[in-house]
Amino acid sequence: MEKVKFYVLPQLSYGYKDLEPYMSEEQLRIHHSKHHQAYVNGANAILERLDKARKENAEIDIKSTLKELSWNVGGHLLHSLFWGNLTPPSRGGGKPGGGLADTIAKEFRSFERFQKEFSQAASSVEGSGWAALTLCRQTGRPMIMQIEKHNMNVYPMFRILMVLDVFEHAYYIDYKNDRGKFVEAFWKIVNWDEVEKRLEEALK
Ligand code: MN
Repeated sequence: MEKVKFYVLPQLSYGYKDLEPYMSEEQLRIHHSKHHQAYVNGANAILERLDKARKENAEIDIKSTLKELSWNVGGHLLHSLFWGNLTPPSRGGGKPGGGLADTIAKEFRSFERFQKEFSQAASSVEGSGWAALTLCRQTGRPMIMQIEKHNMNVYPMFRILMVLDVFEHAYYIDYKNDRGKFVEAFWKIVNWDEVEKRLEEALK
């Protein structure tokens, strides 16, 4: 991939309507074109600010700048992963197959047990955050990560295979305050093929 120095909002591989009835057109459009775009813009603005300060050798508040950068870059990267692990319900949901199914069964004993733990992780994030299925490359074990905000409780070097956004902005139009219902709907539009592809890449 060509390096472009700044972040770019990725295009979705499906239309805004295509995840209905589990995620409405309005919900997805606002989430992608407004919320995700805001993290891209935020990250780029900070990079420009850093470039400028370095060029002019000007003082900056490095602590608050890096905190803000972590929030925005984390938001951008997690959303990019999220869109890729969703797919229209005609092609998504159900259970994974292949190596992914084996990896999950070996760690969690059953797909149902994994699904329950992941749903509980998503439902119990305090405030805003994410549930993530990840792979520890040292142990080869899949682990569920409960990320707070976009950037807390993230383990270094783990590969992220699948994420679920449980910020209120991800579901308030469709499900109001009912995060649990949104988490249930997520399982209908998971793109297991993409998760499997990420697992294969992580194991290389
Ligand atoms: Mn979001």
